[in-house]
Amino acid sequence: MTAYRRPTRLTEALALLAEAPEPPLLLAGGTDIYPARAAAEAWMRPVDRPLLDLSALPELAGIEDRGDHHRIGALVTWAALRDAALPPWFDALRQAARQVGGAQVQNRGTLVGNLCNASPAADGVPPLLALDAEIELACLGGVRRLALGDFLRGNRQTALAPGEIATAVLVPKAAPGSVARFEKLGARTYLVISIVMVVAVIEVEAGRIARARIAVGACSAVAQRLPGLEAALAGLPLAAAASIPAAAHLAALTPIDDIRATAAYRRQAALVLLRRALAPPAEARAA
Ligand SMILES: Cc1cc2nc3c(=O)[nH]c(=O)nc-3n(C[C@H](O)[C@H](O)[C@H](O)COP(=O)(O)OP(=O)(O)OC[C@H]3O[C@@H](n4cnc5c(N)ncnc54)[C@H](O)[C@@H]3O)c2cc1C
Repeated sequence: MTAYRRPTRLTEALALLAEAPEPPLLLAGGTDIYPARAAAEAWMRPVDRPLLDLSALPELAGIEDRGDHHRIGALVTWAALRDAALPPWFDALRQAARQVGGAQVQNRGTLVGNLCNASPAADGVPPLLALDAEIELACLGGVRRLALGDFLRGNRQTALAPGEIATAVLVPKAAPGSVARFEKLGARTYLVISIVMVVAVIEVEAGRIARARIAVGACSAVAQRLPGLEAALAGLPLAAAASIPAAAHLAALTPIDDIRATAAYRRQAALVLLRRALAPPAEARAA
């Protein structure tokens, strides 16, 4: 039987992690871990790695306004995010939360579990990259913060060091007047892995774009910001934004052919979703 521990304080969890002869797998909602274990068992490769269940750690709970940023604890589920009263620049993240899996997955799965699992198609990554979020990592020696873009190192690879637990995501407050939109393309509405998703966070001043932050997911090993497109949008009237995205802005993306779509389809879909995300609300619905 797999060894299982469920500490009730972060210090206890970190001590268990530091002392463990075999590094345990950190367990949050289990919506990535248990399906992966079931799949491995189906192929006669049972996984016997010990589990360190984080779900009783109060230090990882809740969403807090910390003045210049919001702190989203590592146990905050998609359902809690979906239902939270948050400022408009969180709308893309909340829209992603509404579309992750279905209600059961949203009730169990956590945003931080999604980031630590580091899938190229993780729906939580583009909204947070576009918000310049940081991840908070704790070990017995202290706490460090890393920009999300530095934490995510590749397909299923992160900068989480041995002995560390991700305790929260820190989201700097955006300027007043900032709006955010999330567009996801999948083969159906729910219970679907993204073919492409895009996020636009736009700061608007007097009808013009003061700053645009754009991210695209599922088109490279790690979701990416599009700095060329962000620069092209700055200063333009908001009404002109949807006409700006062009194939050249997607040059740095490296989509793959897989069971869900071809690379060429992903590029084209990313362009369509970007234009939709930048369109005025009524046009976006019609597109
Ligand atoms: C039916 C179904 C549908 C799904 N649909 C989607 C979807 O639409 N979009 C999407 O992006 N994902 C989807 N997922 C994947 C999954 O639900 C999400 O990635 C979820 O957010 C993972 O969170 P969790 O708390 O369940 O993570 P867990 O399964 O508990 O953990 C995932 C990974 O993160 C690590 N981890 C978790 N918490 C921490 C921490 N605090 N510190 C360090 N490491 C940690 C674990 O060790 C593990 O490697 C789906 C899954 C299922 C089963």
